[in-house]
Amino acid sequence: MRKPIIAGNWKMNMNPTETREFVNAVKNELPGSNDVEAVIAAPALDLTTLIDTAKDSVLVPAAQDASEFDSGAYTGQISPKVLSEIGAKYAIIGHSERREYQHETDAQINAKAKALFNNNVLPIICVGETLEQREAGETEDFVATQVEGALNGLTADQVKVAVIAYEPIWAIGTGKTASSEQAQAVCAHIRATVAKLYDQDTADALRIQYGGSMKPNNVKELMAQPDIDGGLVGGASLKPDSFLELVHYKD
Ligand code: PGA
Repeated sequence: MRKPIIAGNWKMNMNPTETREFVNAVKNELPGSNDVEAVIAAPALDLTTLIDTAKDSVLVPAAQDASEFDSGAYTGQISPKVLSEIGAKYAIIGHSERREYQHETDAQINAKAKALFNNNVLPIICVGETLEQREAGETEDFVATQVEGALNGLTADQVKVAVIAYEPIWAIGTGKTASSEQAQAVCAHIRATVAKLYDQDTADALRIQYGGSMKPNNVKELMAQPDIDGGLVGGASLKPDSFLELVHYKD
Protein backbone atom coordinates (compact mmCIF):
# COMPACT_ATOMS: atom_id res chain seq x y z
CA MET A 1 0.00 0.00 0.00
CA ARG A 2 1.22 3.46 -0.91
CA LYS A 3 1.24 5.96 1.94
CA PRO A 4 -0.63 9.15 0.98
CA ILE A 5 1.61 12.22 0.75
CA ILE A 6 0.15 15.72 0.98
CA ALA A 7 2.80 18.37 0.36
CA GLY A 8 2.37 22.10 0.70
CA ASN A 9 4.37 24.04 -1.86
CA TRP A 10 4.74 27.49 -0.35
CA LYS A 11 6.50 28.85 -3.46
CA MET A 12 8.07 32.28 -2.67
CA ASN A 13 5.76 33.00 0.26
CA MET A 14 6.32 33.08 4.03
CA ASN A 15 9.23 34.48 6.04
CA PRO A 16 10.94 32.81 9.01
CA THR A 17 8.54 34.37 11.55
CA GLU A 18 5.50 33.23 9.56
CA THR A 19 7.11 29.82 9.13
CA ARG A 20 7.56 29.43 12.89
CA GLU A 21 3.96 30.53 13.54
CA PHE A 22 2.61 28.14 10.91
CA VAL A 23 4.56 25.15 12.20
CA ASN A 24 3.62 25.84 15.81
CA ALA A 25 -0.04 26.05 14.76
CA VAL A 26 -0.07 22.70 12.93
CA LYS A 27 2.56 20.51 14.51
CA ASN A 28 0.44 18.93 17.23
CA GLU A 29 -2.62 18.53 15.01
CA LEU A 30 -1.16 16.42 12.21
CA PRO A 31 -2.33 12.92 11.31
CA GLY A 32 -0.16 10.00 12.41
CA SER A 33 2.88 9.51 10.19
CA ASN A 34 1.71 6.00 9.27
CA ASP A 35 -1.54 7.43 8.01
CA VAL A 36 -0.66 10.43 5.82
CA GLU A 37 2.75 11.98 5.21
CA ALA A 38 2.40 15.75 5.75
CA VAL A 39 5.12 17.73 3.97
CA ILE A 40 5.92 21.43 3.66
CA ALA A 41 8.21 22.61 0.87
CA ALA A 42 9.45 25.96 2.17
CA PRO A 43 11.59 28.61 0.49
CA ALA A 44 15.28 27.82 1.05
CA LEU A 45 15.67 30.77 3.43
CA ASP A 46 12.92 29.41 5.70
CA LEU A 47 14.08 25.80 5.73
CA THR A 48 16.22 25.81 8.86
CA THR A 49 13.44 27.60 10.76
CA LEU A 50 10.95 25.02 9.48
CA ILE A 51 13.20 22.13 10.45
CA ASP A 52 14.05 23.51 13.91
CA THR A 53 10.42 24.33 14.71
CA ALA A 54 9.07 21.03 13.36
CA LYS A 55 11.52 18.78 15.17
CA ASP A 56 9.77 16.31 17.48
CA SER A 57 6.75 16.48 15.15
CA VAL A 58 5.72 14.39 12.12
CA LEU A 59 5.85 17.38 9.75
CA VAL A 60 8.27 16.54 6.94
CA PRO A 61 10.51 19.30 5.54
CA ALA A 62 11.17 19.71 1.83
CA ALA A 63 12.97 22.13 -0.49
CA GLN A 64 11.49 23.61 -3.67
CA ASP A 65 14.51 23.00 -5.89
CA ALA A 66 18.04 21.64 -5.73
CA SER A 67 21.15 22.00 -7.82
CA GLU A 68 22.48 19.13 -9.88
CA PHE A 69 25.86 19.85 -8.23
CA ASP A 70 26.86 19.30 -4.60
CA SER A 71 29.12 22.36 -4.40
CA GLY A 72 31.23 24.68 -6.52
CA ALA A 73 30.99 27.82 -8.61
CA TYR A 74 27.20 27.86 -9.01
CA THR A 75 26.12 31.22 -7.64
CA GLY A 76 22.70 31.21 -6.08
CA GLN A 77 22.04 27.49 -6.34
CA ILE A 78 20.82 25.19 -3.55
CA SER A 79 23.15 22.30 -2.71
CA PRO A 80 21.50 18.87 -2.39
CA LYS A 81 24.34 17.93 -0.04
CA VAL A 82 23.47 20.77 2.32
CA LEU A 83 19.76 19.97 2.05
CA SER A 84 20.62 16.52 3.28
CA GLU A 85 22.83 17.85 6.09
CA ILE A 86 20.14 20.18 7.45
CA GLY A 87 17.50 17.44 7.30
CA ALA A 88 15.32 18.04 4.26
CA LYS A 89 13.68 14.76 3.28
CA TYR A 90 12.36 15.80 -0.14
CA ALA A 91 13.04 18.41 -2.81
CA ILE A 92 10.57 19.41 -5.50
CA ILE A 93 12.26 19.46 -8.89
CA GLY A 94 10.99 20.47 -12.31
CA HIS A 95 8.07 22.57 -11.12
CA SER A 96 6.40 24.18 -14.14
CA GLU A 97 7.29 27.64 -12.79
CA ARG A 98 10.99 26.69 -12.89
CA ARG A 99 10.63 25.04 -16.29
CA GLU A 100 9.12 28.29 -17.54
CA TYR A 101 11.09 31.04 -15.75
CA GLN A 102 14.43 29.24 -15.33
CA HIS A 103 14.14 27.30 -18.60
CA GLU A 104 14.82 23.97 -16.90
CA THR A 105 14.96 20.99 -19.21
CA ASP A 106 14.14 17.32 -18.63
CA ALA A 107 17.88 16.56 -18.79
CA GLN A 108 18.60 19.03 -15.98
CA ILE A 109 15.72 17.71 -13.93
CA ASN A 110 17.14 14.21 -14.42
CA ALA A 111 20.58 15.40 -13.24
CA LYS A 112 18.95 17.00 -10.19
CA ALA A 113 17.12 13.76 -9.38
CA LYS A 114 20.41 11.85 -9.48
CA ALA A 115 22.18 14.44 -7.32
CA LEU A 116 19.35 14.25 -4.76
CA PHE A 117 19.49 10.46 -4.61
CA ASN A 118 23.27 10.62 -4.16
CA ASN A 119 22.57 12.68 -1.06
CA ASN A 120 19.61 10.67 0.25
CA VAL A 121 17.09 13.37 -0.47
CA LEU A 122 14.00 12.17 -2.37
CA PRO A 123 12.78 14.03 -5.45
CA ILE A 124 9.21 15.15 -6.01
CA ILE A 125 9.32 15.39 -9.79
CA CYS A 126 6.73 17.69 -11.38
CA VAL A 127 5.26 17.07 -14.81
CA GLY A 128 2.23 18.44 -16.61
CA GLU A 129 0.88 19.84 -19.83
CA THR A 130 -0.21 23.30 -20.98
CA LEU A 131 -3.80 24.05 -21.97
CA GLU A 132 -2.76 24.11 -25.64
CA GLN A 133 -1.23 20.65 -25.35
CA ARG A 134 -4.36 19.33 -23.65
CA GLU A 135 -6.60 20.78 -26.32
CA ALA A 136 -4.39 19.31 -29.03
CA GLY A 137 -4.71 15.85 -27.45
CA GLU A 138 -0.99 15.72 -26.62
CA THR A 139 -1.23 15.38 -22.84
CA GLU A 140 -0.41 11.70 -22.44
CA ASP A 141 2.52 11.66 -24.87
CA PHE A 142 3.97 14.87 -23.47
CA VAL A 143 3.73 13.80 -19.84
CA ALA A 144 5.21 10.36 -20.66
CA THR A 145 8.17 12.10 -22.32
CA GLN A 146 8.71 14.25 -19.23
CA VAL A 147 8.55 11.18 -16.99
CA GLU A 148 10.96 9.22 -19.14
CA GLY A 149 13.38 12.16 -19.30
CA ALA A 150 13.32 12.77 -15.56
CA LEU A 151 13.82 9.11 -14.63
CA ASN A 152 16.50 8.30 -17.20
CA GLY A 153 19.22 6.15 -15.60
CA LEU A 154 17.55 5.90 -12.19
CA THR A 155 17.33 2.42 -10.70
CA ALA A 156 14.02 0.71 -9.96
CA ASP A 157 14.76 1.00 -6.24
CA GLN A 158 15.15 4.75 -6.61
CA VAL A 159 11.96 5.13 -8.62
CA LYS A 160 10.05 3.15 -5.98
CA VAL A 161 10.76 5.83 -3.37
CA ALA A 162 10.46 8.85 -5.66
CA VAL A 163 7.30 10.93 -5.99
CA ILE A 164 5.88 12.25 -9.25
CA ALA A 165 3.53 15.22 -9.11
CA TYR A 166 1.13 15.54 -12.02
CA GLU A 167 0.36 19.24 -12.26
CA PRO A 168 -1.54 20.39 -15.35
CA ILE A 169 -0.23 23.91 -15.88
CA TRP A 170 -3.70 25.27 -16.66
CA ALA A 171 -4.87 24.20 -13.19
CA ILE A 172 -2.04 25.80 -11.18
CA GLY A 173 -3.09 28.88 -9.23
CA THR A 174 -6.10 29.34 -11.49
CA GLY A 175 -8.81 27.88 -9.27
CA LYS A 176 -9.53 25.55 -12.21
CA THR A 177 -8.96 22.06 -10.80
CA ALA A 178 -8.69 19.16 -13.20
CA SER A 179 -11.73 16.95 -12.76
CA SER A 180 -11.00 13.84 -10.76
CA GLU A 181 -11.47 11.81 -13.97
CA GLN A 182 -8.95 13.94 -15.88
CA ALA A 183 -6.44 13.77 -13.03
CA GLN A 184 -6.90 10.02 -12.57
CA ALA A 185 -6.48 9.35 -16.29
CA VAL A 186 -3.09 11.07 -16.47
CA CYS A 187 -1.88 9.62 -13.16
CA ALA A 188 -2.79 6.14 -14.42
CA HIS A 189 -0.92 6.88 -17.62
CA ILE A 190 2.16 7.94 -15.61
CA ARG A 191 2.02 4.67 -13.67
CA ALA A 192 1.65 2.68 -16.90
CA THR A 193 4.63 4.56 -18.35
CA VAL A 194 6.75 3.63 -15.33
CA ALA A 195 5.59 0.00 -15.60
CA LYS A 196 6.76 0.00 -19.21
CA LEU A 197 10.11 1.64 -18.39
CA TYR A 198 10.72 -0.55 -15.31
CA ASP A 199 8.21 -3.16 -14.15
CA GLN A 200 4.81 -3.36 -12.46
CA ASP A 201 6.27 -3.64 -8.94
CA THR A 202 8.13 -0.40 -9.39
CA ALA A 203 5.09 1.34 -10.85
CA ASP A 204 2.92 0.07 -7.99
CA ALA A 205 5.34 1.42 -5.36
CA LEU A 206 5.78 4.89 -6.89
CA ARG A 207 3.61 7.60 -5.36
CA ILE A 208 1.88 10.02 -7.70
CA GLN A 209 0.46 13.33 -6.52
CA TYR A 210 -2.04 15.58 -8.21
CA GLY A 211 -1.40 19.33 -8.06
CA GLY A 212 -3.32 22.33 -9.36
CA SER A 213 -5.90 24.18 -7.24
CA MET A 214 -6.25 21.29 -4.78
CA LYS A 215 -8.30 22.55 -1.82
CA PRO A 216 -10.11 21.25 1.23
CA ASN A 217 -13.34 21.02 -0.82
CA ASN A 218 -11.93 18.82 -3.61
CA VAL A 219 -9.16 16.84 -1.87
CA LYS A 220 -11.42 13.96 -0.85
CA GLU A 221 -12.66 13.26 -4.35
CA LEU A 222 -9.20 13.54 -5.89
CA MET A 223 -7.66 11.30 -3.23
CA ALA A 224 -10.37 8.70 -3.84
CA GLN A 225 -8.94 8.03 -7.31
CA PRO A 226 -6.95 4.79 -7.47
CA ASP A 227 -3.79 6.27 -9.00
CA ILE A 228 -3.71 9.52 -6.99
CA ASP A 229 -1.62 9.03 -3.86
CA GLY A 230 -1.28 12.61 -2.74
CA GLY A 231 -1.39 16.27 -3.51
CA LEU A 232 1.06 19.06 -4.19
CA VAL A 233 -0.74 22.13 -2.95
CA GLY A 234 0.19 25.77 -3.43
CA GLY A 235 -2.35 28.41 -2.37
CA ALA A 236 -4.34 26.19 0.00
CA SER A 237 -1.20 25.21 1.96
CA LEU A 238 -0.41 28.71 3.20
CA LYS A 239 -2.91 28.84 6.07
CA PRO A 240 -2.64 26.38 8.96
CA ASP A 241 -6.39 25.63 9.02
CA SER A 242 -6.57 24.84 5.35
CA PHE A 243 -3.37 22.73 5.42
CA LEU A 244 -4.75 20.77 8.37
CA GLU A 245 -8.02 20.15 6.52
CA LEU A 246 -6.04 18.84 3.56
CA VAL A 247 -3.87 16.42 5.55
CA HIS A 248 -6.97 15.27 7.45
CA TYR A 249 -8.91 14.58 4.24
CA LYS A 250 -9.75 11.07 5.50
CA ASP A 251 -11.53 12.32 8.67
P1 PGA B 1 -1.91 25.72 -6.53
O1 PGA B 1 -0.36 25.36 -6.88
O2 PGA B 1 -2.37 24.70 -5.52
O3 PGA B 1 -1.87 27.10 -5.96
O4 PGA B 1 -2.66 25.60 -7.82
C1 PGA B 1 0.08 24.05 -6.99
C2 PGA B 1 1.54 24.00 -7.37
O5 PGA B 1 1.96 24.79 -8.24
O6 PGA B 1 2.31 23.18 -6.84
